[in-house]
This record gives sequence, C-alpha cells and structure tokens, in this order.
Amino acid sequence: MSETLINQSVSPVMSTYQRFPITLVKGKGSYVWDDAGRKFLDYTSGIATCNLGHVPEHVRQKLRNQLDQLWHCSNLYEIPAQNELAALLVEHSCFDQVFFCNSGAEGNEAAIKLAKKYAKDQGNPERSEIITFQQSFHGRTGTTMAATAQEKIHKGFTPLTPGFRYLPYNEMSFLDQVHNGKTAAVLLELIQGEGGVNKAEQEWIETLYNICKKEDILFMVDEVQTGMGRTGTLFAYEQFGIEPDVMTLAKGLGSGFPIGAMLAKTHPAASFQPGTHGSTFGGNPLAASAGIATMEVLLRDGILQQVHSSSLWLIDQLHTLIREEEMVKEIRGLGMLIGIELNIGASAVIEAFRKKGVLVLSAGANVLRILPPLTTTKQELELFIQLFEEVITEVESVAL
Ligand SMILES: *Cc1c(COP(=O)(O)O)cnc(C)c1O
Repeated sequence: MSETLINQSVSPVMSTYQRFPITLVKGKGSYVWDDAGRKFLDYTSGIATCNLGHVPEHVRQKLRNQLDQLWHCSNLYEIPAQNELAALLVEHSCFDQVFFCNSGAEGNEAAIKLAKKYAKDQGNPERSEIITFQQSFHGRTGTTMAATAQEKIHKGFTPLTPGFRYLPYNEMSFLDQVHNGKTAAVLLELIQGEGGVNKAEQEWIETLYNICKKEDILFMVDEVQTGMGRTGTLFAYEQFGIEPDVMTLAKGLGSGFPIGAMLAKTHPAASFQPGTHGSTFGGNPLAASAGIATMEVLLRDGILQQVHSSSLWLIDQLHTLIREEEMVKEIRGLGMLIGIELNIGASAVIEAFRKKGVLVLSAGANVLRILPPLTTTKQELELFIQLFEEVITEVESVAL
C-alpha cells in the first residue's frame, strides 16, 4: 500500500532529465515566459535549436501553410518539400546528397552505417572501426552513445556497441593511430558542445584531414550543434578550410521542429541504395517545410554577418569584464556558441542568472555555455553583459 502512495507522487514521465524548476509556456524572439508570467532572456535557444529565436515568423507561416495541406506521407512517395530542402542544403554546402531523419543521434547513426558500408563497397571489409574523440558527444542511442567518448554516458550500459576507438582531442601525437588499417572513418565535432565548448585547433584538423584524404578514410563532422549558422557561417567546417565527406545536422535545422539530416559527398552517398537505410518520419512534409523556411531566413536576412559581429562584440565585452574577475578561467568558442570556463561550479552561476531572468546552460561541471539566438539584438546583448557583471560579483562574494 505504501508503495502505491509513493507512486502517486512520482511523475508519469521517466526521470531522465534533471529539470530546472521552471515551466515555460510561451516564446517570442529571444524571450520566453513561464506559467507565472515571468519573462526570461533565453540564451540557451533550446540547446542551440531555436537559432532564429522563438516562433520565427517565416517558419511559422511556412508550417501553417503545410499544416493545411499534408502533414505526413511515407518516404515511399515523392516529397517535394524534402527535395527542396535537400537542394538548398546541397547548394549551400560541399555535399551532394542528403538523408533525412529526426534527430542528431539518428543523423550520426546514419553516418556510422554509411561509413561501414562504404568501406565494404570499396573492397576494404577490414576497415570496420570509427575513430571518435574524448569529451565528444554524438547522441544517446546504443551506437551513438558508444561513439561518444565519455565514461559518464556509458555507465551502466555495457556491453557497448563495438567498433569505436577513442583518441584525445587536439592532440597531434596520437594522429598516427588514425591510419592503422582498420579505420573506416573519423567522426568529430569541430567545436565540442556538450564536452565543454572545446574548439579544434586548425593545425590538428588539417593534419587529421590530410591523413583521411590520403588513406580514403571518411572525414565526418558532427555539426548537430555547430551547424545552421551557430558559429557565424552556415556550417562550422567552412571556417577550417576543409571539405568533409559527411556531415550531420539536427538541432537548428527546423528551428524547433524535429528534423535531422546526414549529408554526404557523391562517393560515400552511393553506398546508400534502396533498402539500406530508412526512416518513417525522416523529412516528412511538415519537418521539411520547417527546414526550408529556416534555410531561407538564414540565407537572406544577413543573420550570419550579424552572428559574426555580435560574437566579436560579446567576446570582447566578456574579456573586458573578466580582467578583474578571478572566477573566470577562460572564454572560448565561435560565433554564438560560447563557453566560459569557471573556477567554480557552473550551477551556482546558472542559478544566479535565472533569478535575474536569464537562462544559460553548462557544458560539463565548470563551463558556462551561452547560446543566444542568432537573431539576438545589441540591446539584449548589452543587457546580458550588464547582468553577467552583477551575477559574477554576487557569486564571487559567496564563493571566494
Ligand atoms: C545534441 C547533439 C547530438 C544529439 O542530438 P539528439 O537530437 O539529441 O539526438 C549529437 N551530436 C551533437 C554534437 C549534439 O550537440
């Protein structure tokens, strides 16, 4: 009996998330409102998902139009919106073909499957491993969890899917292990999001890239978090002077409507043929419409230029602020993906921000992760800096 009583107080939703005590019910632009009517500056963007801010008008209109036409049809029929989104992505990237799915993990699953099949199609069946990097994050499915080189993510879920080899990120001395006769592909984030906002060093990326090119090892970038304008270019790889073979997208692709994608150059893409991979919902008319509208806004409204200048201003202001602050160790990132490494736990700072009406995230225990919408205004950025100064002073007086 007592167990029944206890169960009545347990949420019917499984407790896979440590939730903040806020219930958000409305969003517009850079702001969200909770059920008590409190307004928050949302510098989490739903974890780099609402890149155009909340309820962006053009995406809303496009979704509404599609809502009156056709929500879903299976991938056994032609889907014009999906073709249109694929064409837009291909036109504005170095890739030739797109596979659509519903999430980042599924995009990476598709990439991993493609890499394995490509190696076999090339007559290299012994190349069955994929190299990933420490502190990476690639998803929570069985295989993408195994691709994620973080012990805390694996804990309790062994045996893991085999076939992954982990190397240290940004460490030149380990790169000779990439070419070992067993490697089908490398999969990496150019800026590790969940793992602490760690940016890949140019020289390291170039060396890794050249090894892959030389040995026909697929160079696959996980741009689930860095893609869709987040770093100031449509895709982060553009800033590293490389052309990956495969790229995955999700978070910002539908402005909050769930959609993921795996893009590939012609040579690996040819390894996917009818029957090799698929998805029921992937790129359905509603999801594809959200993607088209998101791409249209990103391409036409000078947003990427704005991300670039906002980022320079924000990072400069943060550097000015921290000159006097002992609490901040380092500021890093690119575009509107900014990490502030602290000498104390990030949770106290997040809490202090929340009390002032600002939502920010962490990336690991000590890194504050700031993800403003790409459309955030100068005034909002100024407000953020002003509040950051207040928060730091408050938290520092308690912590140090
Ligand atoms: C969020 C994220 C994923 C996982 O995406 P889901 O949609 O949650 O499956 C994968 N890779 C990176 C880099 C991410 O940031």
